[in-house]
Amino acid sequence: MPFSDFHGNAETVHRLREMLARDRFPHAVILTGARGSGKYTLAQMVAKAMNCLNRPDPNSLFGAAPSEELPDFCGKCSNCIRIAEADDLEARFDEAVEARENLRETDKKETRILVQTFPDVLIIPPDPPQMMIKVDQVRHVIHSIYYRPSEGSHKVYIFTDSAFMKESANALLKILEEPPEFATIFLLAENATSMLPTIRSRCITMHLSPLPLAEIEQDLSHRPEWNAKQRQLIARLCGGALGRARGFDLNAYLAARADALTVIKTAMESNDHSSLFKATETYRAGAEGKAKTDALISAIYILLEDLLFLRSNAADMIRNVDIEPELRKIAQDATFEWIANAADRISEVQSGMRRNLLRSLSLDSLALSLEKPR
Ligand SMILES: [Zn+2]
Repeated sequence: MPFSDFHGNAETVHRLREMLARDRFPHAVILTGARGSGKYTLAQMVAKAMNCLNRPDPNSLFGAAPSEELPDFCGKCSNCIRIAEADDLEARFDEAVEARENLRETDKKETRILVQTFPDVLIIPPDPPQMMIKVDQVRHVIHSIYYRPSEGSHKVYIFTDSAFMKESANALLKILEEPPEFATIFLLAENATSMLPTIRSRCITMHLSPLPLAEIEQDLSHRPEWNAKQRQLIARLCGGALGRARGFDLNAYLAARADALTVIKTAMESNDHSSLFKATETYRAGAEGKAKTDALISAIYILLEDLLFLRSNAADMIRNVDIEPELRKIAQDATFEWIANAADRISEVQSGMRRNLLRSLSLDSLALSLEKPR
């Protein structure tokens, strides 16, 4: 039973299935939850259940538990299979971006990234390079949403991010004012507050909570390449988001953390930033270098938080559990004020990086944020 493949948040899944059973599914649903919490997976499951050609018959489940009498999807019919081709969103997204890269310059400008593997399900990811939902993407939705489903029975639109440009949010609002009865729009967001209040008031909002860490560790136990300590580390770093944990790049994190530790230790000894610049000099330019710089800054931030937990006698809160003894030693040598101040300023640098400020500028402010007060 495919809905049973979804881990955790049983109540939310149950509510969605009850709404499917009543055949009066809301026209617009905001699904909130941390990155990797399963928002997209769940929206895809609903899209399949709405369009499955042989929804499992509840009556055939003799002695089934009540939850199993709710609508489900087979995962095997041609509709389920075609919708599932977009389950790996990252791969489809990369293909769409590459296809656009190969277009003529004039067509490139007019082409927006959309993912569609089944005629009645359309996925709208943020459009690069700005990684925002653009007005032309929403216009595409407006043009198609009022036509009845062609091969399925219900149209589904999944906006995978809440980063709407102002114009696109207004265009979306127009659809939400008068949605057709045969379509549902999913808006996926880390926080509902990132959506305009006028949009929120026209949607029902559902939340996916983080899973208990023990459950994530259990799920990762079939990965032989990770030992128990590493599974514990990954579960904590991913904050209860199963999708993130499953796709976690441990080697990249450990490399960033090794650099981060060097940077912190050097900064504690003196206001000397050579180790920071030496570490980042080896990062290549372009997207790869930016990803590595982001990872370094994030690793420094997590380490500083762990140091604060240790200084506050809250060792059970730390995430880098595998190097706790080393962290304890560093925590002893640093003052609470220095760590707290550095962590504050690094979170400012992080939001600067998110707004795409110059990398060199970010590194300079990173260096400053680690300086001790004179
Ligand atoms: Zn099916």
